[in-house]
Amino acid sequence: MSHTIKAVYPGSFDPITNGHIYIAERAAGLFDELTVSILINPEKRATFSVDERKTMAIEALSHLPNVKVDSFTGLLVDFLRQERSRIIIRGLRALSDFEYEFQLAQMNRQLAPEIETLFIVTDARYSYLSSHAVKDIFNFGGPVQEMVPPGVYRRLRERFPRFDK
Ligand code: ADP
Repeated sequence: MSHTIKAVYPGSFDPITNGHIYIAERAAGLFDELTVSILINPEKRATFSVDERKTMAIEALSHLPNVKVDSFTGLLVDFLRQERSRIIIRGLRALSDFEYEFQLAQMNRQLAPEIETLFIVTDARYSYLSSHAVKDIFNFGGPVQEMVPPGVYRRLRERFPRFDK
């Protein structure tokens, strides 16, 4: 009996950065299928719409044939059950990520004991990289070209033309 192992990499991806792409590449190498899933959170004001974030992620991950991009609303564990996956992938940068990630993992364990959260450690090149930092740096006229894929860079310039240098 063949058994496909699917993992889900959830996040805001507002927008996707080279750090996220690195984690997706590593996870894609470990599992048969990976779904990068964008959390639709009406409480949180996002810079890019879910559709824009999806388009940017699809473009950025098109070199990975076993990765698909989706979105979800509500509980992550419900999305995993729907996807028939039992693996949540999260990335770890610094110790400062740990507290939040640990809490999230414990909460998901409580909600769905059959689901496992697995952490992939980032590459040193991306340890300071976050979507938030990219937007801040761009808005202050700093160089972000090395931090995001070309499609994201283009959309940042379109979205914030006054900051484009
Ligand atoms: P969230 O808002 O859920 O933190 P993000 O899109 O910011 O969503 O991040 C999704 C996941 O990717 C999180 O586990 C986060 O720690 C991880 N991540 C974000 N940036 C990086 C990076 N530069 N290197 C490795 N992992 C990262």
